[in-house]
Amino acid sequence: MPIRVENLSYIYNAGQPMEKLALNNVSLTINDGEFLGIIGHTGSGKSTLVQHLNGLLKPSSGRVYLDDVDIHSKQISLRVVRQKVGMVFQYPEHQLFGETVFEDVAFGLKNMGVPENQLSQRVDEALAMVDLELDLKERSPFELSGGQKRRVAIAGVLAMRPKFLILDEPTAGLDPKGRDEILKQVSRLHQKRNTTIILISHNMEDMARFATRLVVLVQGKVALVGTPKEVFSQAGYLEKIGLGVPHMTRLLNELKLRGCNVSSDLYTIEDAESEIVKLLENK
Ligand code: ADP
Repeated sequence: MPIRVENLSYIYNAGQPMEKLALNNVSLTINDGEFLGIIGHTGSGKSTLVQHLNGLLKPSSGRVYLDDVDIHSKQISLRVVRQKVGMVFQYPEHQLFGETVFEDVAFGLKNMGVPENQLSQRVDEALAMVDLELDLKERSPFELSGGQKRRVAIAGVLAMRPKFLILDEPTAGLDPKGRDEILKQVSRLHQKRNTTIILISHNMEDMARFATRLVVLVQGKVALVGTPKEVFSQAGYLEKIGLGVPHMTRLLNELKLRGCNVSSDLYTIEDAESEIVKLLENK
C-alpha cells in the first residue's frame, strides 16, 4: 500500500501579496515498509509536504494517492486516510489536554469509533510500544517528564495502528536519553511491525543510522533521492545547500583530501573506526 505523490504543488496565500510557492511539482512514491528520511533547510517545504500525505493540506495542483486512491476523491474519507497515515507533529506534547494519560491516548480511538470495550486494550498496546508503564494511565500527562509527555502524544497516534507514521522532528528539544529512546521505539515499529516511517530530521547521524532512503528538498523541489550512502556521497552539494553530512563522513572526507587511502562513504563511528584502524595498520 504505497503513498504516491504526483506533480504536487502547494501555494500558501494564493492570490495574495504574501503568496508563497512552498512545493513545486513534487513527485515521490513512498513504498510499503520503508524508512524514508526527509531532509532540507528550514523553509524547504518538508512540513508542507508531509501535511499533504494525510490530507491536512490539499494540493494546489497535483495529486496524492494512497493505495492508488486519490485521497481527496469520494472513494475514501479523510478520516480513514488519517487513521492509516498517522502524523506526529513537532512538539506533539503541546496538544495534550486530557485529565489522564488514558484519556489522551484514547482520544483518537474514540473519534475513530473504536468501541468502548476495546479502548483499554488498544491504549495498553500503544503505551507498550513507547515503553511507558501502564500504571501511568491514570496520572495527569502534565505531571510527567518532557520525554514521557512526548511518548504519550506519540502513543495517541500509534493507538490507531497506522500503516504509515509521519514524524516531524520527533526528538527536537529532548535530552540525549530521551532522543535515543524515541528513535529506538520508532526503529522497532519499523522493524517489528513493518510500519512505514516518514521522518523529518536535521540530524544526519540519525538519518544515516535509520533511514533506508532519503529525500532532499530544496526550495520546494526534490533535489536528491537515494540511499543514505548515495545522498551523503554528495557532501559538497549538501554543504552548498546548507545541510551537513554525518560527522564521520566529514572526517573521512577530510582524511581523503589529505591523501589518506580511506573510503569516504561511511557514516557511523564504528565504520570510521575500522577504516582508520585499517589505515594505521597499513602504514
Ligand atoms: P520546512 O518544514 O522545510 O521548514 P515548510 O513546509 O514549513 O518548510 O515551509 C515551506 C515554505 O512555506 C516556507 O517558505 C514557509 O515560510 C512557507 N510557509 C509555511 N507555512 C506557511 C503558512 N502557514 N503560511 C504562509 N507560508 C507558510
